[in-house]
Amino acid sequence: MIFYTKKILESINNKNITVVAATKYFNSNEMRDLYNTGIQHFGENRVEILLEKQADLADLEITWHLIGTLQTKKAKKILNSIDYLHSLYTLKLAEEIQKRRIDKLNCFIQVNISNEETKHGVNPNEVIDFIKALQGLDKVNIIGLMGMAELTSNKKIINKEFQKLNDLQIEIKNKLNIELKELSIGMSNDYLIALKHNATYLRLGSVLFKKEVQ
Ligand SMILES: *Cc1c(COP(=O)(O)O)cnc(C)c1O
Repeated sequence: MIFYTKKILESINNKNITVVAATKYFNSNEMRDLYNTGIQHFGENRVEILLEKQADLADLEITWHLIGTLQTKKAKKILNSIDYLHSLYTLKLAEEIQKRRIDKLNCFIQVNISNEETKHGVNPNEVIDFIKALQGLDKVNIIGLMGMAELTSNKKIINKEFQKLNDLQIEIKNKLNIELKELSIGMSNDYLIALKHNATYLRLGSVLFKKEVQ
């Protein structure tokens, strides 16, 4: 496997941006190689796989992110094993965090910014009410918003969808006096656009590597 870490970090050219490697493409050995190229933040989609990889890589100083949907019934297995959750969008899960997490968990509210039926997240119109409903859950440390743009080559659409999150950041500041600076946006196909919309966490997978042909 060939890793493009250096090239990608150069194209981002900003030390304040955290690159979270989407690890669904990698097994534990490949993750170890990727770590050795200079990536410490890893984001897994699935609970069981994250726990397995965590055991395999226990000797490394990794910051663990869960970036996929977390079903409430699986939450207790993982809640005290991760550093960041990118996919909070139900009150039920927030209550489970409150109940089970030992310390505060850094969470992004996932917002459904694309019009695709398959995408999860809070409807943009309901984000203010959702944040209000989370007040008082002190284990749920909301640090920012997360979104996934439509998978398209049309930059106008992607810009429009990311802009919704920037607008929401302003609305949240104005209405609730809460500053949510962190933004988890940008995947392989749109991370350069995400940077123009103040992304602070990029979740990158396929752009990081190429499989070597034998
Ligand atoms: C796979 C995945 C990514 C990264 O995808 P690429 O397009 O390969 O960069 C980012 N976020 C989530 C939630 C993912 O599942």
